Amino acid sequence: MAYSIINGKELSQKIQEEIKEKIACLKTCPHLAVILIGDNPASQTYVKNKEKACQNIGIKSITYHLDKDIKQQELEDFIIELNNDKQINGILVQLPLPKHLETEKILSLISPLKDVDGFHPLNTGLLVKGSENAILPCTPKGIIKMLHSVKEDLSGLNAVVIGRSQIVGLPIAQLLIKENCTTTVTHSHTKDLSAITQNADILVVAIGKPDFINKEHIKKGAIVIDVGINKTDNGLKGDVDFDSAKTQASYITPVPGGVGPMTIAMLLENTYLAYLNQTTP
Ligand code: NAD
Repeated sequence: MAYSIINGKELSQKIQEEIKEKIACLKTCPHLAVILIGDNPASQTYVKNKEKACQNIGIKSITYHLDKDIKQQELEDFIIELNNDKQINGILVQLPLPKHLETEKILSLISPLKDVDGFHPLNTGLLVKGSENAILPCTPKGIIKMLHSVKEDLSGLNAVVIGRSQIVGLPIAQLLIKENCTTTVTHSHTKDLSAITQNADILVVAIGKPDFINKEHIKKGAIVIDVGINKTDNGLKGDVDFDSAKTQASYITPVPGGVGPMTIAMLLENTYLAYLNQTTP
């Protein structure tokens, strides 16, 4: 079966160009504060990429690199300071945090209006309610845009999500329900996974295991979205064995160049939207 690639890199660039044009028309520029704690190399790379993307489209971004031993209270005080700073429109705390810090408490402290990662419980609640006012988490928001780039109306389709993480699996399931998909969430306790996935018109895979999903799991003609980013001796790999899956899929996302770049584009969009929301015309 002929398959097509959903090119996340191209789509991300197009979205970034559109936001750049809109920002060029503003009187001031949106401002993102990024908090990076410690010296996790992967986190440092992610933050550098986010900074670069901000610069390219006219978002001012400042990274606060804090010591790995920072105390919970100090970090909380700093976030409150950023919440109160009217110049700052978005606050992002790069995860994972060092083990001694309480991640949920920190994320809950960010002003929901400045929560450009969409991880604050208020935004999670608005997402579950299907509210248009929710700031949506970047990766699931990007996945919906990728799906819409190849299929306008998703209603009635069977969607299967593999993985139930707070940042990908659960929110993408909510968004697919909002799109009127019949949505099933599977996870590490699911029995006979392929019996479920073989029924999926849309298959979203977010488990963190390289090449875990192959053609045996995929219905002919399915749209396959691979969220996984796994470092292996053979380079970056998704959770889907691309060469096997492409023989069944109608559309499939590559790794790299799929969901990853869309996540960055959605962070920029969320920062721009947070700016508009906080700025009186
Ligand atoms: P996580 O580790 O928080 O959750 C993994 C989920 O997979 C769990 O819910 C678990 O139940 C499920 N799972 C594990 N083994 C399973 C199995 N055998 N069968 C079915 N389900 C199983 O992961 P996460 O944070 O959602 O990340 C998943 C992957 O996506 C990782 O590779 C991560 O690096 C990547 N990721 C990519 C982006 C991006 O922008 N592309 C963003 C976030 C995460």
